[in-house]
Amino acid sequence: MNITIHTLVAVLSLSNFLLAIVFIVQYRANKTHWNSDKRTTEEDALQKSDAKYHVLFRDSPDAYLIIMDGAFVDCNRAAESLLRGERAQIIGQSPEILSPDFQPDGRKSSDSAKDKITVAIQTGNCIYEWVHRRFDGSDFIVEVSISSIMLEGKLALFTTWRDITERIQVQKALMENGYRWKFAIEGSGDGVWDWNIQTGESKYSMRWKEMLGYAESDIFPVNNEWIDMVHPDDRSYVKTAMQAYLDKMTPIYVVEYRMKCKDGNYKWILSRGMVVNRSSDGTALRMIGTQTDISDRRLVEEALEESNRKLEALSATDGLTGIANRRRFDEILAKEYARHARSGAELSLVLLDIDHFKSFNDNYGHVKGDECLRDIGRVIAGCTSRAADLAARYGGEEFACILPETDHNGAVVIAEKICSSIQALAIPHKGSSSADCITASIGVVTKQCTIAGSAVDIVAHADELLYQAKSGGRNRVEYVINPY
Ligand code: GH3
Ligand code: MG
Ligand code: MG
Repeated sequence: MNITIHTLVAVLSLSNFLLAIVFIVQYRANKTHWNSDKRTTEEDALQKSDAKYHVLFRDSPDAYLIIMDGAFVDCNRAAESLLRGERAQIIGQSPEILSPDFQPDGRKSSDSAKDKITVAIQTGNCIYEWVHRRFDGSDFIVEVSISSIMLEGKLALFTTWRDITERIQVQKALMENGYRWKFAIEGSGDGVWDWNIQTGESKYSMRWKEMLGYAESDIFPVNNEWIDMVHPDDRSYVKTAMQAYLDKMTPIYVVEYRMKCKDGNYKWILSRGMVVNRSSDGTALRMIGTQTDISDRRLVEEALEESNRKLEALSATDGLTGIANRRRFDEILAKEYARHARSGAELSLVLLDIDHFKSFNDNYGHVKGDECLRDIGRVIAGCTSRAADLAARYGGEEFACILPETDHNGAVVIAEKICSSIQALAIPHKGSSSADCITASIGVVTKQCTIAGSAVDIVAHADELLYQAKSGGRNRVEYVINPY
């Protein structure tokens, strides 16, 4: 920043100095010309260079004025147009006469002008902002740069005015709006951040810091370090969301993430932001945003999600056996059928019914019957090994296994395993005509699913085979020998 100001001063001083030299030469030349009746060669040369003088002095978009003995002795067209007066009206006037009585800092224009001129004389140059008054009574703000020069042995001040009225007004409006906006947001409990994208410098409001447990006096990262405060698991999507917004891929920047507090704990925050300044080529230069503490909301949401998960698990689980219930079975079968219809892979289904279970209940009671159902549920679940396999209680004493991407042979192997494992439980069943222990009859179907077909067809076919197993003597697996 210092370098910029110094460079600016140096450039202004240099350009003013060069113009001042040109002015001195031309001033003398014109004087000579005005005082002479005869044109000399030297005068002709000076006449030619007068065009240069016009370009530099008369036609400059910046207003140039020369002050000698406290009054204007020359000015250019830009000065005339700024003051809305003729050159003849301007010449002879003092700078403070063409100013309001007081400057915005409260000082009298006449006192302040004297001080500026003293600085310019002592240091050779002085730059400051000044409110001038036009001939029509209206005011305008200029950035004044004065350089002291010697003109015909007398001290003169070469003055440049750059109209900054509009710039100051915009700045003022921005400041006022900015403060009002910041005040309103801080009042609502949100923090405010302000990021200079070019320099990487970030500024944070008091509330922003307070939210994360920092005091206003705490030394705080002023560059892009805020991203290091984001939870490692959230960092990548925060960066992605930010980049997408900066690249105009998304219309808004709103993202939720965890931020590390001073005490090392994380807090859920919601950050919103918008680019308030872009360069002419569209590059984002500055972004302003808010930060809202959403920890409480996230806690409630997490608790709700957890209870929803539990509820969903409950609604999908059979209360007696703990394996999937009929609702879950129907849901998964429909999904798998559609998925297999798309992929063309084979889907297998095992359907099982306990043999003579009515008589088991009659002989051993319903409590023993329930116990038996639980054992069988465990056996069936244990016989399915893949993550995608689903063992379910289909109804009363009927069970089913959905075996995705499983061919006929694989499905029969699993069904046989279930059948023998149930028998291996060796649960005595004196009322059974097929064995002296609990057994089951099983139907196995393997299907190549089609868009036109339906999951219901598989169940119906498996049920048919199950019926055949029953009529074939029970305690057996029935399947189509050559299903294709
Ligand atoms: P089959 O060999 O032909 O299948 O004869 P089954 O006796 O097993 O056939 P049926 O369908 O006539 O009987 C099923 C029995 O399963 C009737 C019912 O009491 C019993 N059952 C169904 N659900 C439960 C349950 O949750 N607990 C108990 N203990 N028994 C159940
Ligand atoms: Mg039955
Ligand atoms: Mg039965």
